[in-house]
Amino acid sequence: MDIPTAFRAEYDTGRPGAVIGFLSEYDALPQVGHGCGHNLIGTIGVGSGVLLSKLMEHTGGKVIVFGCPAEETSGAKVKMSELGCFDELDAAMMAHPESKYYKSGVSLAMEALRFKYFGKATRAATSPQDGINALEGVIQLFVNINGLRQHILPSARIHGVIRNGGVAPNIVPDYASAEFHIRATSKEYLEELSRKVRNCAQASALSTGTRVEISNYEESYCDLRTNQNLSAQVTENLHLFGVEEINEPRKSFGSIDMGNVSHRCPGIHPYFPVVDHGYVTAHSKDFAAAAVTDYAHEQMGLVIKSFAKTGYDILTDQDLRSRIRQEFECQNV
Ligand SMILES: [Zn+2]
Repeated sequence: MDIPTAFRAEYDTGRPGAVIGFLSEYDALPQVGHGCGHNLIGTIGVGSGVLLSKLMEHTGGKVIVFGCPAEETSGAKVKMSELGCFDELDAAMMAHPESKYYKSGVSLAMEALRFKYFGKATRAATSPQDGINALEGVIQLFVNINGLRQHILPSARIHGVIRNGGVAPNIVPDYASAEFHIRATSKEYLEELSRKVRNCAQASALSTGTRVEISNYEESYCDLRTNQNLSAQVTENLHLFGVEEINEPRKSFGSIDMGNVSHRCPGIHPYFPVVDHGYVTAHSKDFAAAAVTDYAHEQMGLVIKSFAKTGYDILTDQDLRSRIRQEFECQNV
């Protein structure tokens, strides 16, 4: 695997059985530190793996901890999924810090598109007829997408910025560019929207006489498919270890690279709190401070125990293992 800060650690009983995976993240944010609490996610992955390995004296199977870097930028789980890193797993588990406990829900599939428009520079005042305005290509792209946006599903998102718009008003821009994120609840609808957005770009190039190049500038994310059988087992175990309130999944319009993992094996991505009351915004210094408190560490400990117990349940309960597998197969026909 050509990702220098990723890792894979395995404990194998040498006997046949289920394969349990725990996923660690550990990247932080510039200026903010662990404002997304990945210090806790990193420890949960390693802690759950070590704890489960201590419970496997009489079971078969194996447990693997995956170190998954760069979640905040171009998530490594995308590449790792494509390489087949998670294909052997009967369950992939990770949990993310938040302000409350939430069951694993959905996240949106996402594609990141860059549009480069090329025109011909000229003096804007004295010889405009000799120029081709690349910025007009970008402006028409936004106009076309605004028209499209009226007729997309309310759960989808298309949002973009202009990255280059020319250098001076007295020069017709020969180059302009824009970047967009397109998000949808399913990979299939994302593909349909992406095709339409690309058509918007081609149409604007045609109408302005510019030339457009379209490319992906970040990894594309799949939607998160929560395995409900796996999720229910984790919820049951969290209750067992004393967690009382676990909320139904949040309505999320974000995108995470765990989505890609959930298309390769049964997966979950629930949330746990770093504060005992109120709300703290992710990607803030307040969140970074909350992520190192005793309270956050206590919740982390409960998640570790619940994850390890869930792994043990799957290793020892063939029926549970089959139900999780069957659900995954049905989601992926
Ligand atoms: Zn995060």
